[in-house]
Amino acid sequence: MILDLSLSELQDYIKGLGEPSFRAKQLFEGMMLGKSLEEISNLPKSFKEKVEKVFPKFEVVAHLKSKDETQKVAIKYEDGSIVETVLLKYKYGYTVCVSTQVGCRMGCKFCASTLNGLKRNLTAGEILLQVLFYNKILGASLKERKVTNVVLMGCGEPLDNYENVCKFLKLISAPEGLNISQRNITLSTCGIVPKIYQLADDGFSVTLTISLHSPTDEHRKTIMPIANAYKIEEIIKACDYYFEKTGRRVAFEYSLIEGENDNDETISKLASLLKGKPCLVNLIPLNSVKEKKLNGVTRKRAYYIAEKLAKMGINATVRRTMGEDIEGACGQLRNRVGGED
Ligand code: SAH
Repeated sequence: MILDLSLSELQDYIKGLGEPSFRAKQLFEGMMLGKSLEEISNLPKSFKEKVEKVFPKFEVVAHLKSKDETQKVAIKYEDGSIVETVLLKYKYGYTVCVSTQVGCRMGCKFCASTLNGLKRNLTAGEILLQVLFYNKILGASLKERKVTNVVLMGCGEPLDNYENVCKFLKLISAPEGLNISQRNITLSTCGIVPKIYQLADDGFSVTLTISLHSPTDEHRKTIMPIANAYKIEEIIKACDYYFEKTGRRVAFEYSLIEGENDNDETISKLASLLKGKPCLVNLIPLNSVKEKKLNGVTRKRAYYIAEKLAKMGINATVRRTMGEDIEGACGQLRNRVGGED
């Protein structure tokens, strides 16, 4: 699929077809605007026939709009795999929450994305087209990009699909592409330690967030199987390294699950764990997933916890819940929709 290629790789490919390199630029620009092959009007028919097979193809099989203006689409790829992707509207612009895998194999107890396991990894181009789709419906042009921020917080564990995700980060931040700065990209991970080091060593500087959800290994293991592989202490060391290398402050996500990780004692442990670190805690009252029997806390309780953390010297914010009515909020994305569940 040619959307996996950078402009220079596409130029080589097009030369290989015996076509001039300016056609690659026209094709690339058309794809960056999310156009279909038919819609790219400056390409001759004979050229289109040559690239038809490798041109990105997908279908939107569901499109939901929340009353808070969040949108969610289900995208079906050529092999029939479906992922969900969300558009969030903020004062400064639009953020797209992309999925990086079809399903997920991390098995977190509270998350919908992992319910059917992992089907497959998405390619860089397949992740990119989730953003291109929204730019197109928002009426973006080559000069005016509508989507300004991207979060890798949809279905899947980005660091479990390392190569494709890195390729995606390069494609989306390329000046000739969407030109989204790495500062405006947030990658969220459940904490695959060696890959955090690799990301820093490979020269990336995206904002990193860690799904922590518990301050002790013992308890974390009961809700996140990945905790059996890496200790919290190792994750924090890797985050320190990431900060040293990139100058980017790491944030910790903490989904508040009633009766699991929200009591005062646990919150005090969280504060001691992070004391003195240049980090931020993002509190997310757990969003409901119908198959799971876990409940979130009230927003009032979440604000109380944020204040408690602040008193103990920890910077904490409560994440706004958006798109809950269309199951587009954190942890609610899955690889199937509607009647297919
Ligand atoms: N796999 C990556 C990317 C997912 S990001 C990761 O684990 O970070 C989605 C965020 O929402 C993660 O912090 C995840 O732990 C959290 N989450 C999962 N299920 C949730 C739920 N039901 N309610 C609130 N947050 C949830």
